[in-house]
Amino acid sequence: MTAPFLSLAQIRNRLILTARWVLREHRPGPDGRCPICRRSGCTVATAARNVIDAAEEVQQRSTATQPAKPDLDIPGQTG
Ligand SMILES: [Zn+2]
Repeated sequence: MTAPFLSLAQIRNRLILTARWVLREHRPGPDGRCPICRRSGCTVATAARNVIDAAEEVQQRSTATQPAKPDLDIPGQTG
């Protein structure tokens, strides 16, 4: 089932789900090596972590509904 149009939240959720699945698959074993890539410092896991970070950042921005109002001092008021 593929919807022709996904909302940003749906896209974000899919990204997070996929990235978490990748992270689970590429979780380093007791020797610190990724069981799939067979090396330490798995770049796939790092990329998945970056995707989760970015997706959660989008979530925080969208839930923070405060208008970005610049809180600047008006020049020329003091003195
Ligand atoms: Zn890996």
